[in-house]
Parts: sequence; structure tokens; C-alpha cells
Amino acid sequence: MEYFAPKSVSEALSLLERYDGEAKVIAGGTDVMVDIKYKEEPGCLINIKAISGLAGIQETGGGVTIGPLTTIRELETNRLVREKLPVLWEAAHQFASLQIRNTATIGGNICRASPSGETLSPLLVLEAKAKLAFSGKESSQPFTSFFSGPGKTALGTKGLLTAIEVPYSAEGSRSAYLKHAVRGAMDIAMVGVAILITPDSGKNNLQDVRIGLGAVAPTPLRAAKAEALLRGKPLTPALLKEAAASAASESSPIDDQRSSAEYRRWIVEALTRRGLAQTWKAATGKEIV
Ligand SMILES: Cc1cc2nc3c(=O)[nH]c(=O)nc-3n(C[C@H](O)[C@H](O)[C@H](O)COP(=O)(O)OP(=O)(O)OC[C@H]3O[C@@H](n4cnc5c(N)ncnc54)[C@H](O)[C@@H]3O)c2cc1C
Repeated sequence: MEYFAPKSVSEALSLLERYDGEAKVIAGGTDVMVDIKYKEEPGCLINIKAISGLAGIQETGGGVTIGPLTTIRELETNRLVREKLPVLWEAAHQFASLQIRNTATIGGNICRASPSGETLSPLLVLEAKAKLAFSGKESSQPFTSFFSGPGKTALGTKGLLTAIEVPYSAEGSRSAYLKHAVRGAMDIAMVGVAILITPDSGKNNLQDVRIGLGAVAPTPLRAAKAEALLRGKPLTPALLKEAAASAASESSPIDDQRSSAEYRRWIVEALTRRGLAQTWKAATGKEIV
């Protein structure tokens, strides 16, 4: 296995081009090193940690730009993320152990494209975008169309994620990230649900509702039908029940060692109900009974 530590994005991209599918990018290595040990060794390892400008969290007009090399712990301890992107902060806070959070990067979590990746459903509800670089071109893509299957993204084998652009949510919005795992944060999510709601100015109706589901389909997804059911209406107990059932039916989980598909669907329903009730109360002061 060959090893490179490029100093620039363009150097990394030429290596990806030269090794054409044989190369593996490594950031924190918490996924890659496990794969090398238990699955297969790539022909070439490209360590991107020495590339400057790929780490850190910066406020830009109307939002935040996050470098892909930013660690999960940096997200968790950053004031802007905590105050302005609480749904992402909650996911970072419930992410693995402190040792893993200190090493794992947000870019690695995204590019791994595991359906259970903790930061993915929060990025979907925040309507964040990925900045992608390929040899000779750059592009920007919403995360809603970035993932194409487990381990598969718009980057293919020759692209590099260079930034994550997250707009601020509308005034009065409230959000929540709910993770279900056997050993809490120490475990990869069996189900992860991210909710972001915005009430109208009178705090009577749901002006905007976004529901992101993780670990229950080949890619993270937005529960579009449940969102449409809720939009423009006040949250009532009956509507809450109907929307949560819709979110569960929009998921397509698998049976695996962590859970049966049936149990996962049941958890999607329960967490969606809980997340909507919680955010509605936080946004409007009204309790759903
Ligand atoms: C004990 C343990 C517990 C874990 N718990 C959790 C958990 O609770 N929640 C969770 O979501 N995950 C968990 N993980 C998985 C892992 O830690 C995360 O997916 C992590 O965010 C990966 O980041 P990394 O920097 O270590 O990625 P790496 O291992 O370096 O890379 C991961 C993938 O991303 C690619 N990549 C990285 N950066 C880029 C880039 N900028 N451009 C293009 N491709 C890139 C790599 O080629 C590779 O395919 C756990 C892992 C372990 C070992």
C-alpha cells in the first residue's frame, strides 16, 4: 500500500485521478483503519490532514461553513454550532465516545455515507450543501441529493469534499435530534431522527416542518409525506399520530444484528412523535396531550 500526505486539494485530486479507484482518502481514520484491518487494504492511502483550509467553523453571511476536517468534538464544543445549529450539536454530542469524537471528522462521517451516520439527518433538515472538488472543477450539491446508497456519494472515487455550507434556520425555528441505540452514544444509531420546525408568526400553525431519518433506508432521507401532512396546520394529537405513522411507512429499514426492520419502524414512529411534540412545545409553548 502506498501512502501520501498531500499539502493541497489539487495535489490530493491528482493522486485520486492517478490511482483511479485504487486510492482511499483518510481523514480521522476511525472508519478507514477499521476497514483496513477487517476488510481490505486500498492500493494507496491519501491522508488529507495536512491540507490547510479544510478544518474549522466559520460564520459566513446567513450561515456557517464547516471544513470537512473539523472533528466531531470541535462541533460539540463550538459556540456557533451549539447556538445556531442545535440539531447538529445534539448529534455531535450523542456521537460515540470522547476518544472517537476527538478523532472522527464531519467530512469522514459524511463521505462514509453510512445510513446510520450521525450528522447526516441533521444536515438534511438544515438543508445544508456540500462543496465538492474534482480535478479541474468544483461544484455545490444539496445533501438531499448527495447520497446514492450505503458508502456511495456524488464524490464517486475521484472527488473530495471541501466544505459543508449550512444556512441558518428561520427565526423562531426549533429542532431536535433523537438517537436510539442500545448503549446510548457509545453505539451506532439503530434509528436517528432529526426534526426542525418553524411556526408561523402567531405560533398557531406549522409554517415549515422538516423530518430527517437515519439508519432506516439505504441513504438518510427526508420524510416528505409526513412533512406535507403537517405543513400549514396546527399540531394536534391526531395529526401528530398520523404524521409519525407516515414517517415510519416512508422508511425502508433492514433486519440486521442491531435490530429487526419492524422494530426500527416502530422506533421511527415513536421518535418522530416525540421530536415533533418536543419542538412544537419549545416553539409555541403549547403542550400536546
Ligand atoms: C468505536 C467507534 C464508534 C463509532 N461511533 C459512531 C457513532 O456513534 N456515530 C457515527 O455516525 N459514527 C460512528 N463511528 C464511525 C466513524 O467514527 C464516523 O463515521 C466518523 O465520522 C468518520 O470520520 P473519520 O474522519 O474518522 O473518517 P475516515 O475513517 O478517515 O474516512 C471515512 C470515509 O470518508 C472518506 N473521506 C473522509 N474525508 C473525506 C473528504 N474530505 N473527501 C472525500 N472523502 C473523504 C474516506 O475515504 C472514507 O471512505 C464509530 C466508529 C468507531 C470505530
